[in-house]
Amino acid sequence: MSYVEPAPIKDRENPFESMMSRFHIASQALGLNDEVYNVLKNPVKQVIVSLPVTMDDGSIRVFEGYRVIHSNILGPSKGGIRYDMGVNIDEVKALAAWMTWKCAVVDIPYGGAKGGIRCNPRQMSSGEIERLTRSYTQEMFSIFGPDRDIPAPDMGTGPREMAWIMDEYSRANGMTINAVVTGKPIVLGGSTGRAEATGRGVMVSAFAAMEKLKINPYQSTVSVQGFGNVGSHAALLMEERGSKVVAISDISGAYYNPDGINIQQAVEFREANGGTLTGFTGGEVIEGEELLTLEVDILIPAAMEDVITVKNAEQINARMIVEGANGPTSARADDIINSKGTLVVPDILANAGGVTVSYFEWVQNRLGYKWTRDRVNRRSDRIMRESFERVYKTALKYGVSMRIAAYIVAIDKVANTYKFRGGF
Ligand code: GLU
Repeated sequence: MSYVEPAPIKDRENPFESMMSRFHIASQALGLNDEVYNVLKNPVKQVIVSLPVTMDDGSIRVFEGYRVIHSNILGPSKGGIRYDMGVNIDEVKALAAWMTWKCAVVDIPYGGAKGGIRCNPRQMSSGEIERLTRSYTQEMFSIFGPDRDIPAPDMGTGPREMAWIMDEYSRANGMTINAVVTGKPIVLGGSTGRAEATGRGVMVSAFAAMEKLKINPYQSTVSVQGFGNVGSHAALLMEERGSKVVAISDISGAYYNPDGINIQQAVEFREANGGTLTGFTGGEVIEGEELLTLEVDILIPAAMEDVITVKNAEQINARMIVEGANGPTSARADDIINSKGTLVVPDILANAGGVTVSYFEWVQNRLGYKWTRDRVNRRSDRIMRESFERVYKTALKYGVSMRIAAYIVAIDKVANTYKFRGGF
């Protein structure tokens, strides 16, 4: 192989560089050929749009929106849309590539994409967010499509935004096209089980990993960073199955209770409290950083990228890390974590339950048929279990971490598709 290694990661850990350094290691282990390597290291399309929006006070603000299609060789591209002040092109590029690997790891027929708008949805009214979302959808009219590119929720977006996207896209087409987006409200063709799907997949992954480490789930302890859609559902489902969740956190702070936090109560508190845990008394208030270093069996980072870095990796005391967020561990922290013997179930495997049920939603929309919750859960649990085993076996076969193994599984599938499709 003659392709050049990506430039070394400097002080700032850039998510795209983090993604690329793992891609590089896995490509080498696999013996990937130069052509496919060079094709996959760049996204196939990057779109940046300006979105003028009339604010409630009559002023006009211009927002920047992005959509990056990393790959569409396996099928239409798939991936969420993020509303956050930290959104930038490198982040969206990394997240789009992670979607390619994620869909390939769980063997669903999609490529990878990601979108985002740099905005602070917490400081905007519902009307302002609606106008922004509709304007973004209009600009992406030639990008989106049930057979082209299918968005979904991510940080800062949910069923409400997906409903607006579906409506705006459908109006422009003069008919209802619900398969253009997933994560919709159930009444618009959303799937039962989609809201909790990512958290559920995290739980299934954690249980599969506990089996490997011979940890008794009834004696297991868990800390969860991030109490949004992914973290709270994962915590709830882990608790339901006998694990003790000793710490949770969100933007308001971190809460610790060695006897176990009552997660159902925490969820109810959050709902009644405008969406945050501010003032939650079910646990002692601790530093957010302390939550990451607690001595627990399972650490679930479910907030955002780059929270486990060279600065704190040495202090991590969990026996395993199950990544609910995308990219929570920086590439430079990987070696430290691995040398400590901590088992990491990587993001592109652990949080793939969400896109798996997104795929079921799209299948149901196209069939014009609704599955029961039981069918959705059974099928997604099976996919998560089988994918875990596939990655675990690959890790043993190549003598690499589960993270690199997951990339190997994914890159191998994409490379094989290129082999048959050709076209360069
Ligand atoms: N945003 C989610 C993710 O990162 C879901 C993507 C989807 O369902 O398309 O996996």
